[in-house]
This record gives sequence, C-alpha cells and structure tokens, in this order.
Amino acid sequence: MLDEKLIEHHYAQLKFHRILYGLLAVFIFALYCWEPRKTTFLYIWAIAGTLLLGIAETIFTKQAFWNRMLILKIFTYVQYFFYLVMLYMVHNQNTYLVLGIGALLLVFMFEFSYYNNISDDLNNVKIFVFLAAPLVICQTMYFCMYGVEGAGFFLLLAYLMLCVFDVVVIHLFYINERDFIQQIHSLMSEIDNMEDNNSELKDTQTRLEKVNDELNMQRIRLAQMNKEVQQSNTELAVQADILKYVNRSFSVDITEIMDYLADVVIRVRGIDFCGIYIKKDVYYNKKPVSRCKCVSVPELTEVEEMAYLFAQAPDREDKRLVLNAFPPGLFPSLSRTKLATLLVLPLVLDGEKYGILVSGSLMPNVFDSYITFYDIIVPQFDLAIHNIKLYNQMRHIAQTDGLTGIHNRTHFNKLFAEQMKQTVSNQEALTVALFDIDKFKRINDTYGHLVGDEVIKEIAHIAFRHIEEPELGFICRYGGEEFVLALPDMGLTQAMPIIEALHKDIAATTVHAYGHVVTMNVSIGVSSYPEICQDVNSLIKRADWSMYYAKEHGRGQIKVDGPDVTEE
Ligand code: GH3
Ligand code: MG
Ligand code: MG
Repeated sequence: MLDEKLIEHHYAQLKFHRILYGLLAVFIFALYCWEPRKTTFLYIWAIAGTLLLGIAETIFTKQAFWNRMLILKIFTYVQYFFYLVMLYMVHNQNTYLVLGIGALLLVFMFEFSYYNNISDDLNNVKIFVFLAAPLVICQTMYFCMYGVEGAGFFLLLAYLMLCVFDVVVIHLFYINERDFIQQIHSLMSEIDNMEDNNSELKDTQTRLEKVNDELNMQRIRLAQMNKEVQQSNTELAVQADILKYVNRSFSVDITEIMDYLADVVIRVRGIDFCGIYIKKDVYYNKKPVSRCKCVSVPELTEVEEMAYLFAQAPDREDKRLVLNAFPPGLFPSLSRTKLATLLVLPLVLDGEKYGILVSGSLMPNVFDSYITFYDIIVPQFDLAIHNIKLYNQMRHIAQTDGLTGIHNRTHFNKLFAEQMKQTVSNQEALTVALFDIDKFKRINDTYGHLVGDEVIKEIAHIAFRHIEEPELGFICRYGGEEFVLALPDMGLTQAMPIIEALHKDIAATTVHAYGHVVTMNVSIGVSSYPEICQDVNSLIKRADWSMYYAKEHGRGQIKVDGPDVTEE
C-alpha cells in the first residue's frame, strides 16, 4: 500500500524532475553563452548526463521492468552519485554551476530521505539546512569577495526557487499523504484491534450464552429436583399422617383412614379416582367395607363393582392389574366416569389378599411405570389394618366370654351404663331380663362339667340368635350359668314376646354332648323402665329379684317385676 503510494508520488515528482533537468540544461546553456571558453567540456557532460538520466528514469519507472521500488531507489542513488561526480568536477570551474548542481543534489537527498522514511520531518529539515548551509555560506562569501554577476545570479535564483517549490510539492503531496496513510494505518490497526476485541467479545458472548444455557438447564434441573423434593415431602407428610392413623388406629374408625387415604392418593398423584375395598371378617368387620372418591363425578361414592375388582385382582402384593376399558355391563358405576385407565393393587396381609386399592386417571398409560408412592403407602395401610385387627382381637377377647363367645359381664356393664344414659336422656324405655339355668348342678353332677359347659354354650347361642343377631339388644354371660339381656327402647309389650320366644326355644332345645342328650330350662326375671321400675339403675337388681322369685315359685317360668317382688 505504502509502496504503491510512493510510486504514485514518484510519478508526480518525475514531472518536476524533468523541469529541474530542463532548467539545469537551460542554466548550463545560459552559463555557456555567458562564458563559452571556460567550461565547454563539462557543460556538455552535465547536459548529456542529466538528459540521459531523466529519460532512463522515466522509461524504467513507467515500464516497470523490474521491482519498481528498487528502480526508484537505484535511480535516486545513481542521480545522487552523478551529481556528486559533477559537483566534484565543476567545484572550482563555475560557482553558479556548483550551486545549481548542489541544490539539485540537496533536493534528491531530501526526496530520498522522505521516500525511504530515514528520519522524521524535523530531522529531514535539519539535514536539509545542515547540507544547504555550507553552500549558502560559500556563495555569500564568494559574492562578498568577488561581487555578484547579475544574469548568473537571477538564473541561480530561479533555479533555487524551483528547488524550493519541489520541496513544497513533496511536502504537500507526499508528507500530508504519508501522514494520512499513517493515520489510515493506525485506524486500520485500531479496527483490527477492535475486530480482535470484537471477536473476543463474541467469544465471551458465546461463552456467556453457553454458561447461560447451562444455568438455564441447571435451573430447570433444580426446578425438577425441587418438584421431586416437594413430592417427596408431600409423600413423607402423608406417610407421617398415615403413621399417626396407624398409631391411633385402635380408636379410629377404619373408614376414616380409608377416606383419608383416598383423598391423599388423589391429591398427591393428581389422579381422578381412588377407591379402597376390604372384604368382610378382616378386622372383625361383619360386612365388606368400601370407600370411593371421584373428582370428576363427586356423587360417585359407592362403586358396586369393587367386589368384582377385588375378585379379579392378583393375590400377590407385587402384582397389579391395569384396566383400560370399562364396559357398562361389567362396570355400571365406573363407566359413568371418563376414566382412561384403572390401577388395581391388591392389599395383602399375612399372605392373604384382604382388599384392593384402586386408582383411576383420565390420562391414559399413567400407571405403566413403576409407582413408588403406592409401595410406601400400601404397606402402611396394611399395618393400620393389622393393628386394628390386633386391637379388635384383644378387645374381643377382653369383652367376650371365653366359653360362650358372647359379651362378658364387664363389657355388658359398660354397654349397659351407656344404654342407661341414652335411655334416660332420650326418655326411652328399657327392659332387662336375667335368667339362670334351673338345677344346673344336677346336670353337672349327672353328665359331667363338660356336658354342663355345652349346655351353657347352647343357651348362650340361643340367646344370641334371639337378641343380638336381629340387633334387638345385647346379652352377656352374667355369671356361671346366669345370663342377662337388655332390650333398649322396648317396654314390656314389645319385650315380652321376645323373651317368651327365647324361653320357649331354650326349653324346647336338647343338647347332644359326649353321648348324652340333655334338656334344660331357665327361670327368667324381667324388669322394665320406666313402666315398672322408675329407677333405671335398679333394673338389673329388680330383674335379679324377679328371677329369684321365679325360682322360688316353681322354676322354668318368667316373672315380671312387680310389687310382689322383693329382695327376700
Ligand atoms: P337353681 O339355680 O335352679 O337354684 O339350681 P342350681 O343347681 O343351678 O344352683 P346354682 O345356680 O346355685 O348352681 C350353679 C352351679 O353351676 C354351680 C357350679 O358348679 C355350676 N357352674 C358354674 N359355672 C359353671 C361352668 O362354667 N361350667 C359348668 N359345667 N358348671 C358351672
Ligand atoms: Mg345360678
Ligand atoms: Mg341355676
């Protein structure tokens, strides 16, 4: 770039060079005319050499035979050398010629220095002044000593002015241009730097974008993890709640846990339906128990096909059943929902399937993957059921008479106390009957205690069939071979037919035990609140007195409390 510019400037300079050459020729010719005898030979050499150099420089530069910069430099040196030689040859011949050639030499040196960037502008001026000074001093001294010749002086002046003009042109065309180019160069390098910086910035931006992407990914992962942690927290909270139920299960109605579990499964798993079914006789429950919740069909609390699903469910806890179609024939209730899929998990206790946990979703295939939540929930529910079963078992043992299986006296007292409260507060009636086997000692003595036991058991069963099974009231074994029954909300009118039927049944029953056939009878004492006995707390006592009254008056009969019944 800079070389091209140099050559361009050199072309411009060539025009001035030609003028300078031409002027030198005119100058020499003028000198020759002035003093023709003195310097003939040297003048011809100066003109011929100058013209030759001018032509050669133009041809070589224009044609560009070779490296043009090299030609430029070589010609500068050649011209410099030629004028040095000429200066040497004419130095004591003609003062004006010396000055002319010297000025030319100075111009070439000046140009050369600029073109080749030998030194800065200030130094070039200094060199120029330093080289020109001796010439000026010499000329001034010469003029002082020998005087000035008019025509020669003006020619010299004109030539020197052209030289100065040449220097000015160099300055205008080249120096400014050079500064401009340098500025452009520095601008270019700045742009390069900026581009570098820009690319660095782009790299940084790309890296930042990458980091940003990674941060976003991490944020998404964190959000996911947060969700999982929240899910785990919810599941843990649910577990804790269920554990509470497990611990409280002795006093909690199992349906309460079932309702809670159904709610939790729907909430935590985000599903639409949850149902739990437990078959009968699992925890001393006399009937199957089923609880259902459905978000989209809230009124669907009873799902009749739960028993069918229980039958279809696998027997092992590690197996499960997934249903994706619900024909109305098989699923009269579930077909009312828009469930897409149903998961049936068996509930297993001590290796036996006792119930099912059913989950339903409106989204298909949600139960295809392994479901940890249920693996945690189900065993805890099993544990709750197990505890309730154990508790009910213990309670049953504590409340039940070991021989007959009906309530024992302690439990009867508890039930009766509650009943008395209810009777009084509701102003209801309450009838009590107490009966004792007649001549039981004799049965024992005749057939043995084992047969006696069978008789006691049989009477208990008959009483149970008459009173508790139809849920008319409650009975207990009150003592060795004494029984008591309570008939809530019944006056004598309702109670007597029942008691009489019971009595009849006992009297008509024969017990077959250990090869013996035994018949028995009982004496029954009856009292009724408020019809006969106004103090509800005295009911059993009065029934007892009545029973003794019956014993004393011939046995095998029913005696209703009345004024004739006393303690004696
Ligand atoms: P009655 O009541 O008619 O006056 O005559 P009884 O012979 O039945 O006299 P009581 O009621 O006093 O007799 C109770 C007998 O019942 C005494 C006891 O040996 C017997 N007994 C009490 N508990 C049991 C039991 O669990 N099994 C058997 N086999 N006998 C029992
Ligand atoms: Mg007795
Ligand atoms: Mg007796």
